[in-house]
Amino acid sequence: MVASSSAALERWLTGPRFASLPARGAGEKAPALSFEFFPPRTEALEQQLWHCIRRLEPLSPRFVSVTYGAGGSTQARTHAIVTRILAETTLIPAAHLTCVGAARAEIDAIARAYWQAGVRHIVALRGDVPGGGAYAPHPGGYAFAADLVAGLKRIADFEISVAAYPDVHPQAASVEADIDNLKRKLDAGAVRAITNYFFEAETYLRFLERCRARGITAPIVPGIMPVTNFAQAARFSATCGVPVPAWLGHLFVGLDDDQDTRKLVAAVVAAEQVRVLQANGIDEFHFYTLNRPDLVYAIGHILGVRPATAVADVVQP
Ligand SMILES: Cc1cc2nc3c(=O)[nH]c(=O)nc-3n(C[C@H](O)[C@H](O)[C@H](O)COP(=O)(O)OP(=O)(O)OC[C@H]3O[C@@H](n4cnc5c(N)ncnc54)[C@H](O)[C@@H]3O)c2cc1C
Repeated sequence: MVASSSAALERWLTGPRFASLPARGAGEKAPALSFEFFPPRTEALEQQLWHCIRRLEPLSPRFVSVTYGAGGSTQARTHAIVTRILAETTLIPAAHLTCVGAARAEIDAIARAYWQAGVRHIVALRGDVPGGGAYAPHPGGYAFAADLVAGLKRIADFEISVAAYPDVHPQAASVEADIDNLKRKLDAGAVRAITNYFFEAETYLRFLERCRARGITAPIVPGIMPVTNFAQAARFSATCGVPVPAWLGHLFVGLDDDQDTRKLVAAVVAAEQVRVLQANGIDEFHFYTLNRPDLVYAIGHILGVRPATAVADVVQP
Protein backbone atom coordinates (compact mmCIF):
# COMPACT_ATOMS: atom_id res chain seq x y z
CA MET A 1 0.00 0.00 0.00
CA VAL A 2 2.76 2.41 0.98
CA ALA A 3 4.66 1.77 -2.23
CA SER A 4 1.65 2.34 -4.47
CA SER A 5 0.64 5.59 -2.76
CA SER A 6 4.17 6.98 -3.07
CA ALA A 7 4.13 5.96 -6.75
CA ALA A 8 0.91 7.92 -7.09
CA LEU A 9 2.51 10.91 -5.37
CA GLU A 10 5.57 10.62 -7.60
CA ARG A 11 3.34 10.61 -10.66
CA TRP A 12 1.40 13.61 -9.35
CA LEU A 13 4.60 15.55 -8.73
CA THR A 14 6.37 14.73 -11.96
CA GLY A 15 3.39 14.54 -14.35
CA PRO A 16 2.02 14.20 -16.89
CA ARG A 17 -0.97 15.01 -14.79
CA PHE A 18 -4.57 15.68 -15.49
CA ALA A 19 -5.03 19.39 -15.08
CA SER A 20 -6.41 20.54 -11.75
CA LEU A 21 -9.03 23.26 -11.60
CA PRO A 22 -7.46 26.51 -12.69
CA ALA A 23 -6.64 28.80 -9.82
CA ARG A 24 -6.72 32.30 -11.18
CA GLY A 25 -4.07 34.18 -9.29
CA ALA A 26 -4.71 37.71 -8.10
CA GLY A 27 -4.28 40.10 -11.01
CA GLU A 28 -4.67 37.38 -13.66
CA LYS A 29 -7.25 38.29 -16.25
CA ALA A 30 -10.22 36.08 -17.05
CA PRO A 31 -10.40 35.18 -20.74
CA ALA A 32 -12.40 37.31 -23.19
CA LEU A 33 -15.51 35.58 -24.47
CA SER A 34 -17.83 36.05 -27.42
CA PHE A 35 -21.10 34.24 -28.09
CA GLU A 36 -22.91 33.09 -31.20
CA PHE A 37 -26.71 32.92 -31.50
CA PHE A 38 -28.95 31.87 -34.35
CA PRO A 39 -32.24 33.46 -35.47
CA PRO A 40 -35.06 31.11 -34.43
CA ARG A 41 -38.13 30.27 -36.48
CA THR A 42 -40.91 30.48 -33.92
CA GLU A 43 -42.13 32.92 -31.29
CA ALA A 44 -41.42 30.40 -28.49
CA LEU A 45 -37.86 29.85 -29.68
CA GLU A 46 -37.40 33.60 -30.05
CA GLN A 47 -38.28 33.96 -26.37
CA GLN A 48 -35.69 31.28 -25.57
CA LEU A 49 -33.12 33.27 -27.55
CA TRP A 50 -33.86 36.45 -25.60
CA HIS A 51 -33.65 34.58 -22.32
CA CYS A 52 -30.25 33.31 -23.49
CA ILE A 53 -29.07 36.79 -24.49
CA ARG A 54 -30.21 38.30 -21.18
CA ARG A 55 -28.61 35.50 -19.14
CA LEU A 56 -25.23 35.88 -20.87
CA GLU A 57 -25.24 39.68 -21.13
CA PRO A 58 -23.80 40.28 -17.61
CA LEU A 59 -20.70 38.30 -18.59
CA SER A 60 -19.73 41.30 -20.76
CA PRO A 61 -18.65 39.37 -23.87
CA ARG A 62 -16.41 41.16 -26.33
CA PHE A 63 -19.20 40.80 -28.91
CA VAL A 64 -22.14 38.53 -29.74
CA SER A 65 -22.81 37.33 -33.26
CA VAL A 66 -26.00 36.30 -35.01
CA THR A 67 -25.85 33.76 -37.83
CA TYR A 68 -27.30 34.11 -41.31
CA GLY A 69 -29.40 31.10 -42.35
CA ALA A 70 -28.32 28.86 -45.21
CA GLY A 71 -28.48 30.76 -48.49
CA GLY A 72 -29.46 33.96 -46.72
CA SER A 73 -32.77 32.46 -45.57
CA THR A 74 -32.84 34.43 -42.31
CA GLN A 75 -31.87 37.81 -43.75
CA ALA A 76 -34.76 39.73 -42.13
CA ARG A 77 -34.63 37.81 -38.83
CA THR A 78 -30.86 38.21 -38.50
CA HIS A 79 -31.23 41.94 -39.14
CA ALA A 80 -34.09 42.25 -36.63
CA ILE A 81 -32.20 40.44 -33.86
CA VAL A 82 -28.93 42.29 -34.46
CA THR A 83 -30.60 45.70 -34.41
CA ARG A 84 -32.65 44.78 -31.33
CA ILE A 85 -29.48 43.70 -29.51
CA LEU A 86 -27.99 47.06 -30.41
CA ALA A 87 -31.07 49.00 -29.27
CA GLU A 88 -32.01 47.10 -26.12
CA THR A 89 -28.87 45.61 -24.60
CA THR A 90 -25.37 46.65 -23.62
CA LEU A 91 -23.93 44.08 -26.05
CA ILE A 92 -22.00 44.73 -29.25
CA PRO A 93 -23.63 42.71 -32.03
CA ALA A 94 -21.92 41.25 -35.07
CA ALA A 95 -24.07 40.29 -38.06
CA HIS A 96 -23.11 37.22 -40.10
CA LEU A 97 -23.40 37.79 -43.86
CA THR A 98 -22.81 35.29 -46.68
CA CYS A 99 -22.07 35.47 -50.42
CA VAL A 100 -24.10 32.49 -51.57
CA GLY A 101 -27.11 33.02 -53.83
CA ALA A 102 -27.06 36.82 -53.92
CA ALA A 103 -25.83 39.53 -56.29
CA ARG A 104 -23.29 42.05 -55.03
CA ALA A 105 -25.88 44.83 -55.12
CA GLU A 106 -28.16 42.89 -52.73
CA ILE A 107 -25.35 42.14 -50.30
CA ASP A 108 -24.07 45.71 -50.47
CA ALA A 109 -27.57 47.00 -49.68
CA ILE A 110 -27.78 44.74 -46.60
CA ALA A 111 -24.35 45.92 -45.44
CA ARG A 112 -25.31 49.58 -45.92
CA ALA A 113 -28.50 49.03 -43.92
CA TYR A 114 -26.43 47.54 -41.09
CA TRP A 115 -24.03 50.48 -41.13
CA GLN A 116 -26.93 52.95 -41.09
CA ALA A 117 -28.46 51.09 -38.15
CA GLY A 118 -25.22 51.49 -36.24
CA VAL A 119 -23.92 47.93 -36.66
CA ARG A 120 -20.16 48.00 -37.07
CA HIS A 121 -19.11 44.35 -36.94
CA ILE A 122 -19.75 41.80 -39.71
CA VAL A 123 -18.77 38.12 -39.76
CA ALA A 124 -18.11 37.69 -43.50
CA LEU A 125 -18.63 34.21 -44.94
CA ARG A 126 -19.04 32.41 -48.23
CA GLY A 127 -21.93 30.28 -47.03
CA ASP A 128 -23.08 26.92 -48.35
CA VAL A 129 -25.65 25.86 -50.90
CA PRO A 130 -28.89 25.07 -49.06
CA GLY A 131 -29.45 21.32 -49.16
CA GLY A 132 -25.77 20.61 -49.58
CA GLY A 133 -25.05 20.87 -53.33
CA ALA A 134 -21.73 21.87 -54.91
CA TYR A 135 -20.95 25.56 -54.44
CA ALA A 136 -20.91 27.86 -57.45
CA PRO A 137 -20.60 31.63 -57.10
CA HIS A 138 -23.69 33.66 -57.96
CA PRO A 139 -23.17 35.39 -61.33
CA GLY A 140 -22.47 38.95 -60.34
CA GLY A 141 -22.04 37.98 -56.69
CA TYR A 142 -19.05 37.83 -54.38
CA ALA A 143 -17.40 34.50 -55.20
CA PHE A 144 -15.60 33.77 -51.92
CA ALA A 145 -15.43 35.25 -48.44
CA ALA A 146 -12.21 37.14 -49.27
CA ASP A 147 -14.11 38.99 -52.04
CA LEU A 148 -16.91 39.81 -49.60
CA VAL A 149 -14.43 41.21 -47.06
CA ALA A 150 -12.96 43.50 -49.74
CA GLY A 151 -16.47 44.55 -50.84
CA LEU A 152 -17.56 45.36 -47.28
CA LYS A 153 -14.44 47.43 -46.70
CA ARG A 154 -15.30 49.48 -49.82
CA ILE A 155 -18.73 50.24 -48.31
CA ALA A 156 -17.65 51.28 -44.82
CA ASP A 157 -14.94 50.73 -42.25
CA PHE A 158 -16.58 47.63 -40.71
CA GLU A 159 -14.81 45.48 -38.15
CA ILE A 160 -14.76 42.15 -39.96
CA SER A 161 -14.30 38.62 -38.63
CA VAL A 162 -13.90 35.58 -40.88
CA ALA A 163 -14.06 31.81 -40.52
CA ALA A 164 -11.11 29.42 -40.08
CA TYR A 165 -10.97 25.64 -40.02
CA PRO A 166 -8.56 23.79 -37.69
CA ASP A 167 -9.74 20.51 -39.26
CA VAL A 168 -9.46 22.05 -42.79
CA HIS A 169 -12.48 23.21 -44.79
CA PRO A 170 -13.94 20.16 -46.61
CA GLN A 171 -13.72 21.85 -50.02
CA ALA A 172 -10.16 23.17 -49.63
CA ALA A 173 -7.65 21.97 -52.23
CA SER A 174 -5.10 21.35 -49.45
CA VAL A 175 -4.21 22.36 -45.89
CA GLU A 176 -1.86 25.00 -47.32
CA ALA A 177 -4.49 26.34 -49.76
CA ASP A 178 -6.96 26.71 -46.88
CA ILE A 179 -4.46 28.68 -44.80
CA ASP A 180 -3.57 30.80 -47.84
CA ASN A 181 -7.27 31.52 -48.19
CA LEU A 182 -7.48 32.58 -44.54
CA LYS A 183 -4.53 34.91 -45.12
CA ARG A 184 -6.29 36.42 -48.17
CA LYS A 185 -9.34 37.17 -46.04
CA LEU A 186 -7.25 38.87 -43.38
CA ASP A 187 -5.17 40.73 -45.95
CA ALA A 188 -8.44 41.97 -47.51
CA GLY A 189 -9.33 43.70 -44.23
CA ALA A 190 -10.62 41.18 -41.68
CA VAL A 191 -9.18 41.63 -38.19
CA ARG A 192 -9.79 38.23 -36.65
CA ALA A 193 -10.65 34.67 -37.50
CA ILE A 194 -13.15 32.61 -35.55
CA THR A 195 -12.64 28.89 -35.92
CA ASN A 196 -15.13 26.21 -36.63
CA TYR A 197 -15.56 23.99 -33.58
CA PHE A 198 -13.12 21.11 -33.07
CA PHE A 199 -12.83 18.40 -30.44
CA GLU A 200 -9.09 17.93 -29.96
CA ALA A 201 -7.25 20.91 -28.47
CA GLU A 202 -4.12 19.73 -30.26
CA THR A 203 -5.85 20.17 -33.64
CA TYR A 204 -6.38 23.86 -32.90
CA LEU A 205 -2.87 24.38 -31.49
CA ARG A 206 -1.24 22.77 -34.55
CA PHE A 207 -3.45 24.86 -36.84
CA LEU A 208 -2.47 28.03 -34.97
CA GLU A 209 1.17 27.09 -35.36
CA ARG A 210 0.77 26.64 -39.15
CA CYS A 211 -1.04 29.98 -39.45
CA ARG A 212 1.70 31.79 -37.53
CA ALA A 213 4.35 30.10 -39.72
CA ARG A 214 2.45 31.41 -42.77
CA GLY A 215 2.77 34.95 -41.41
CA ILE A 216 -0.77 35.33 -40.04
CA THR A 217 -0.63 37.53 -36.96
CA ALA A 218 -4.36 38.28 -36.40
CA PRO A 219 -6.18 36.64 -33.49
CA ILE A 220 -7.54 33.18 -34.36
CA VAL A 221 -10.25 32.73 -31.76
CA PRO A 222 -11.14 29.11 -31.02
CA GLY A 223 -14.83 28.29 -31.52
CA ILE A 224 -16.08 26.07 -28.70
CA MET A 225 -19.22 23.99 -28.98
CA PRO A 226 -20.41 22.22 -25.84
CA VAL A 227 -21.94 18.94 -27.05
CA THR A 228 -24.98 17.63 -25.19
CA ASN A 229 -26.47 15.52 -27.99
CA PHE A 230 -23.72 13.29 -29.28
CA ALA A 231 -25.66 11.64 -32.13
CA GLN A 232 -26.74 15.02 -33.50
CA ALA A 233 -23.22 16.46 -33.18
CA ALA A 234 -21.73 13.43 -34.94
CA ARG A 235 -24.17 13.79 -37.87
CA PHE A 236 -23.52 17.52 -38.23
CA SER A 237 -19.75 17.09 -37.87
CA ALA A 238 -19.73 14.64 -40.79
CA THR A 239 -21.18 17.35 -43.05
CA CYS A 240 -18.59 19.97 -42.12
CA GLY A 241 -15.50 17.76 -41.99
CA VAL A 242 -14.91 17.76 -38.23
CA PRO A 243 -13.62 14.39 -36.97
CA VAL A 244 -15.39 13.19 -33.85
CA PRO A 245 -13.04 11.34 -31.49
CA ALA A 246 -14.06 7.94 -30.13
CA TRP A 247 -13.50 9.12 -26.54
CA LEU A 248 -16.29 11.66 -26.95
CA GLY A 249 -18.71 8.96 -28.06
CA HIS A 250 -17.75 6.77 -25.10
CA LEU A 251 -18.55 9.59 -22.69
CA PHE A 252 -22.16 9.63 -23.89
CA VAL A 253 -22.78 5.87 -24.05
CA GLY A 254 -25.90 4.96 -22.06
CA LEU A 255 -27.04 8.57 -21.61
CA ASP A 256 -29.56 8.82 -24.46
CA ASP A 257 -32.47 9.21 -22.05
CA ASP A 258 -30.59 11.13 -19.38
CA GLN A 259 -30.42 14.73 -20.45
CA ASP A 260 -29.30 16.05 -17.06
CA THR A 261 -26.20 13.87 -16.99
CA ARG A 262 -25.45 14.66 -20.64
CA LYS A 263 -25.42 18.37 -19.76
CA LEU A 264 -23.00 17.78 -16.90
CA VAL A 265 -20.72 15.72 -19.15
CA ALA A 266 -20.89 18.40 -21.85
CA ALA A 267 -19.88 21.13 -19.40
CA VAL A 268 -16.91 19.13 -18.13
CA VAL A 269 -15.68 18.26 -21.66
CA ALA A 270 -15.94 21.83 -22.93
CA ALA A 271 -14.44 23.35 -19.77
CA GLU A 272 -11.55 20.90 -19.97
CA GLN A 273 -10.97 21.71 -23.65
CA VAL A 274 -10.90 25.42 -22.89
CA ARG A 275 -8.58 24.96 -19.91
CA VAL A 276 -6.08 22.99 -22.00
CA LEU A 277 -6.09 25.85 -24.52
CA GLN A 278 -5.78 28.40 -21.71
CA ALA A 279 -2.78 26.52 -20.35
CA ASN A 280 -1.25 27.00 -23.79
CA GLY A 281 -1.72 30.75 -23.74
CA ILE A 282 -5.10 31.17 -25.43
CA ASP A 283 -7.12 33.87 -23.70
CA GLU A 284 -10.11 34.43 -26.00
CA PHE A 285 -12.94 32.00 -26.80
CA HIS A 286 -16.02 32.09 -29.03
CA PHE A 287 -18.91 29.92 -27.83
CA TYR A 288 -21.51 28.36 -30.07
CA THR A 289 -24.41 28.76 -27.65
CA LEU A 290 -27.16 27.13 -29.79
CA ASN A 291 -29.32 29.72 -27.99
CA ARG A 292 -28.92 27.88 -24.68
CA PRO A 293 -27.12 29.78 -21.95
CA ASP A 294 -26.63 27.33 -19.06
CA LEU A 295 -23.53 25.43 -20.15
CA VAL A 296 -21.81 28.51 -21.52
CA TYR A 297 -22.55 30.43 -18.34
CA ALA A 298 -21.17 27.59 -16.19
CA ILE A 299 -18.02 27.21 -18.30
CA GLY A 300 -17.45 30.97 -18.24
CA HIS A 301 -17.86 30.87 -14.45
CA ILE A 302 -15.26 28.10 -14.14
CA LEU A 303 -12.88 30.22 -16.21
CA GLY A 304 -13.35 33.14 -13.85
CA VAL A 305 -15.73 35.16 -16.03
CA ARG A 306 -18.21 36.77 -13.66
CA PRO A 307 -21.08 39.23 -14.04
CA ALA A 308 -19.71 42.76 -14.17
CA THR A 309 -21.59 43.63 -10.99
CA ALA A 310 -20.37 40.62 -8.96
CA VAL A 311 -17.63 40.83 -6.35
CA ALA A 312 -14.37 41.14 -8.30
CA ASP A 313 -12.83 37.87 -7.16
CA VAL A 314 -12.96 35.21 -4.49
CA VAL A 315 -11.06 36.18 -1.38
CA GLN A 316 -8.27 33.69 -0.65
CA PRO A 317 -8.57 31.99 2.74
C1 LIG B 1 -17.32 31.01 -37.29
C2 LIG B 1 -18.21 30.53 -38.41
C3 LIG B 1 -19.44 31.13 -38.61
C4 LIG B 1 -20.27 30.71 -39.66
N1 LIG B 1 -21.49 31.33 -39.83
C5 LIG B 1 -22.28 30.97 -40.87
C6 LIG B 1 -23.52 31.64 -41.11
O1 LIG B 1 -23.94 32.52 -40.35
N2 LIG B 1 -24.25 31.27 -42.20
C7 LIG B 1 -23.85 30.28 -43.04
O2 LIG B 1 -24.58 30.01 -44.02
N3 LIG B 1 -22.67 29.63 -42.85
C8 LIG B 1 -21.89 29.94 -41.80
N4 LIG B 1 -20.69 29.29 -41.58
C9 LIG B 1 -20.33 28.18 -42.47
C10 LIG B 1 -19.59 28.67 -43.73
O3 LIG B 1 -20.42 29.46 -44.52
C11 LIG B 1 -19.15 27.42 -44.49
O4 LIG B 1 -18.16 26.73 -43.77
C12 LIG B 1 -18.67 27.68 -45.92
O5 LIG B 1 -18.55 26.40 -46.56
C13 LIG B 1 -17.31 28.37 -46.04
O6 LIG B 1 -17.39 29.68 -45.70
P1 LIG B 1 -16.03 30.55 -45.62
O7 LIG B 1 -16.44 31.93 -45.31
O8 LIG B 1 -15.05 29.90 -44.76
O9 LIG B 1 -15.59 30.45 -47.16
P2 LIG B 1 -14.25 30.83 -47.93
O10 LIG B 1 -13.25 31.45 -47.04
O11 LIG B 1 -14.66 31.56 -49.16
O12 LIG B 1 -13.69 29.39 -48.34
C14 LIG B 1 -14.56 28.38 -48.82
C15 LIG B 1 -13.74 27.29 -49.50
O13 LIG B 1 -13.28 27.73 -50.76
C16 LIG B 1 -11.87 27.68 -50.82
N5 LIG B 1 -11.49 28.88 -51.58
C17 LIG B 1 -11.49 30.14 -51.16
N6 LIG B 1 -11.13 30.97 -52.15
C18 LIG B 1 -10.94 30.21 -53.24
C19 LIG B 1 -10.59 30.48 -54.60
N7 LIG B 1 -10.37 31.72 -55.01
N8 LIG B 1 -10.53 29.44 -55.43
C20 LIG B 1 -10.78 28.17 -55.01
N9 LIG B 1 -11.10 27.85 -53.75
C21 LIG B 1 -11.20 28.86 -52.88
C22 LIG B 1 -11.40 27.66 -49.39
O14 LIG B 1 -10.14 27.04 -49.20
C23 LIG B 1 -12.50 26.85 -48.74
O15 LIG B 1 -12.31 25.48 -48.96
C24 LIG B 1 -19.85 29.65 -40.52
C25 LIG B 1 -18.62 29.03 -40.30
C26 LIG B 1 -17.81 29.44 -39.24
C27 LIG B 1 -16.50 28.75 -39.00
